[in-house]
Amino acid sequence: MEQLLNLYAEMGISEKVYEYGEQAIKKLEDRFAAIDKIAEYNQAKVLAAMQKNKVSAVCFAATTGYGYDDVGRDNLERVYADVFHTEAALVRPQITCGTHALTVALSANLLPGDELLSPVGLPYDTLQEVIGIRQSPCSLAEYGVSYRQVDLLDDGTFDYEGIRAAINKKTKLITIQRSKGYATRPTFSVTQIGELIAFCKSIKPDVLIMVDNCYGEFVETIEPSDVGADMVVGSLIKNPGGGLAPIGGYICGTTACVSRCAFRLSAPGLGQEVGANLGLMPSLYQGFFLAPTVVAGAEKGAIFAANLYEPLGYRCVPNATESRHDIIQAVELGSEEGMIAFCKGIQAAAPVDSFVTPLPWEMPGYNDKVIMAAGAFVQGSSIELSADGPIRPPYAVYFQGGLTWCHAKLGILMSLQKMIDAGLINL
Ligand SMILES: *Cc1c(COP(=O)(O)O)cnc(C)c1O
Repeated sequence: MEQLLNLYAEMGISEKVYEYGEQAIKKLEDRFAAIDKIAEYNQAKVLAAMQKNKVSAVCFAATTGYGYDDVGRDNLERVYADVFHTEAALVRPQITCGTHALTVALSANLLPGDELLSPVGLPYDTLQEVIGIRQSPCSLAEYGVSYRQVDLLDDGTFDYEGIRAAINKKTKLITIQRSKGYATRPTFSVTQIGELIAFCKSIKPDVLIMVDNCYGEFVETIEPSDVGADMVVGSLIKNPGGGLAPIGGYICGTTACVSRCAFRLSAPGLGQEVGANLGLMPSLYQGFFLAPTVVAGAEKGAIFAANLYEPLGYRCVPNATESRHDIIQAVELGSEEGMIAFCKGIQAAAPVDSFVTPLPWEMPGYNDKVIMAAGAFVQGSSIELSADGPIRPPYAVYFQGGLTWCHAKLGILMSLQKMIDAGLINL
């Protein structure tokens, strides 16, 4: 213990901050145990899918060029489909990020004259240009796909009457974002998403439902595809990549939807048959294998952060005690200085680039200046310990990740220390 305190002191974390953290952790034992139970189930789920599909060293071979007959790639897609309980999956390094995966899913399944509906308010920042809410070349709007939105009610619940009124004969696809993104609304549980899907399908049975599953994978024992989603979509440099995937995205869903996505991603006529794996299969398989426990560690970090900051008077979303449906923790710091100090702490705790100072910048795809702290092995990976947020009221940082609980804990303690050092907090 003294050894640990000495090392933490050398790294800049005071005994006072450490002790404050320990008090918080004492109260979290039961919650952490519940998270471990979910991880145990999800670990078995992934393992069973890998065993069923006879994953072997043959699957790890690199392919190049067209990538025809890529056994490892095709089998990884079967593993994903089995874990998400879907007919099909598209899991590719050629999908460059979550926004790209969502763009592929939307543009493959929406045609000119169709309408897209978001019944959960404004979608994630980068999706706004994809849809054409903010103008961009090649947006869905430019291709004649219209968009309609129903905001959440003031209490964060679904506006069922508004949604009923918004669904019309043009409504082809409904997009539901599970995680709050850069908003301070609640993240939806899979059960809530299931209720919304059932409602939408009761009004229009053939409407397609896509769930933006970013940051939600493996937080619960079920996924949106278990409650009626036609497609679930996410990024491999978030939860399902387990920190090892260096790039990639996934779309799991019905054969009808996913095969269209494959044609959109490559080319009509080519579809899922092409796309070399470039030697990335070992990290995509192993990352998926590790993902359930990595997600559990990240979730513990998020809960720890809320239990550290909320008693100090900062609003936390989710709050210190409520149940969790993604790995994101928003902490409203109330000022740009607060955001900078918090992010400095996360950066200083990183294994990579710990010596740099994060500053707000104009990031492509975002409307406001954004600050990002990330010292990640994979650039921009937010399953690794990271904090970011747009510089706008309520000056919330969105904290997420941590490949291990111990690292997440250290990072959060360091953020608190930097807030104290900046004179913003007095313990
Ligand atoms: C991260 C995220 C995205 C976009 O993913 P990128 O990989 O950053 O492009 C989309 N939606 C939500 C809810 C996200 O959290």
